[in-house]
Amino acid sequence: MAQVTPRVAVIGAGIAGLSAAAKLSERCVVELFDMGGRGVGGRASSSRPAGETTPPLTFDHGCQLLTATDASFRARCATLERAGAIARWDARFGVLRARDGAFIAKADLPTKTSSDDRPPDFFGVLSSEDVFVGTPTMVGASDGLLSACSIARTTQRQRVCVTSLTRSAKTRSWRVMGVDVGRKRVDAKEAAAKMGERDLGSFDAVVVTDVMCATSGTPGSCALTFEGEDGDGDGSDSDGSDSVAAACWREMSALPPQSLFSLMIAFPTPLTGPPFDAAVVEDSDVVQFLSRDSSKPGRGRDDGVECWTAVSTEAFAREMVARAPLSVDGKYNPQTAEYLAQITPTMRDEVLRLLRGSCGGGTHGIGAGSVPAPVHVASQRWGNAFPSTPIASGGGGSGPGFAHDATRAFAACGDFVGGAGVERAWLSGTRAGEAVSEALLARGGRRASL
Ligand SMILES: Cc1cc2nc3c(=O)[nH]c(=O)nc-3n(C[C@H](O)[C@H](O)[C@H](O)COP(=O)(O)OP(=O)(O)OC[C@H]3O[C@@H](n4cnc5c(N)ncnc54)[C@H](O)[C@@H]3O)c2cc1C
Repeated sequence: MAQVTPRVAVIGAGIAGLSAAAKLSERCVVELFDMGGRGVGGRASSSRPAGETTPPLTFDHGCQLLTATDASFRARCATLERAGAIARWDARFGVLRARDGAFIAKADLPTKTSSDDRPPDFFGVLSSEDVFVGTPTMVGASDGLLSACSIARTTQRQRVCVTSLTRSAKTRSWRVMGVDVGRKRVDAKEAAAKMGERDLGSFDAVVVTDVMCATSGTPGSCALTFEGEDGDGDGSDSDGSDSVAAACWREMSALPPQSLFSLMIAFPTPLTGPPFDAAVVEDSDVVQFLSRDSSKPGRGRDDGVECWTAVSTEAFAREMVARAPLSVDGKYNPQTAEYLAQITPTMRDEVLRLLRGSCGGGTHGIGAGSVPAPVHVASQRWGNAFPSTPIASGGGGSGPGFAHDATRAFAACGDFVGGAGVERAWLSGTRAGEAVSEALLARGGRRASL
């Protein structure tokens, strides 16, 4: 029987989706769907708030930096660096003590051997020799990963929300349905009901890269159905036990969201007082990481406006989300201007307090130094910022950091299964992509008659 190249749908064009697509497109035809309106990258992207400033302000409002420990990811970073997609961020890193404004430079921190005294790190910024950022913004890193996909075999579909995945046991294929969405995030079910789903095609395998897909009341909610199997359509095996795909989906839907907020704040002139460019913040109830975005390579502006970003603590986000939940009555609760007005002032005040306090090298006491009034302040909610504990990925054709049901040609990858951070999301996606293409090719590719 004639065989054609297998077709795979990848749901999500964040780091995991991009790396899965790159690996898959070596041997399969890939369609890469993402509902985002700002291009690829997911949480590794950047924000360009509307405003009067020319050129527009930009902030890495999600992922702040990349570090690499795994040899294959280090090699990928070297390629991205050569291509100009990322660059080394050689800056003044360290710990900022919120209680007295003291800044302890990275070089002066206790060594790894006395790790008990070592403050918490933020994605390796205090422990890695090489710290990278995307250029000209974090989107550069994601665009660089996109360019690793085979152009001939990859189709990118942006602003498309996948709303249902249905596997037919008879044809051994997946029917993928979705809706076209605008820039704003909306409830996926509501959008599907309003606009009607459209057929996005038939695929030999699907790779899901966002935990939101399995979670109701999110913009990415998606239905997963198994047709023509012995069970009741939920993907259980004939003996009633969960298949790898069904077990994975169930775990995804039960994973509690761990939310965070980020603050984007710009000052009219560069701040000369704070003796650092990025700091892990100790003892603040509100801010865990504070970074001078404009100190990243290539970010300086002729008008002198200086951009900073701050990442909230988990405790602060938990408290805010308890008051202003992610979903109400099972429906997505969008982050409107009114919603964010409950967050921005507290984060802004804490950032100003931290910056002022750091100006005198800790000797003035917190709140003492001078920092001009900001010219721009905004906040952003990340409903699922980092996974609290990644889901288990065992069984079937699963491997480290990804789940794979080889029988049903279903895989899940991303930080919710591989662990938080760009490096782990990349490894998860790459390994899942490899496992899926191996399995598809081992079963003889796709039958032309399907
Ligand atoms: C504030 C913040 C700071 C961070 N800082 C760092 C850092 O400094 N260093 C670091 O290494 N990591 C950092 N991280 C974590 C890092 O960004 C993530 O771990 C990583 O980017 C996750 O990539 P991913 O591909 O797994 O998921 P995502 O980036 O979330 O990608 C999933 C994609 O799927 C899409 N999607 C979901 N559902 C659907 C659907 N139904 N249809 C179509 N598309 C869909 C989404 O739009 C999204 O683009 C930070 C995260 C946050 C929030």
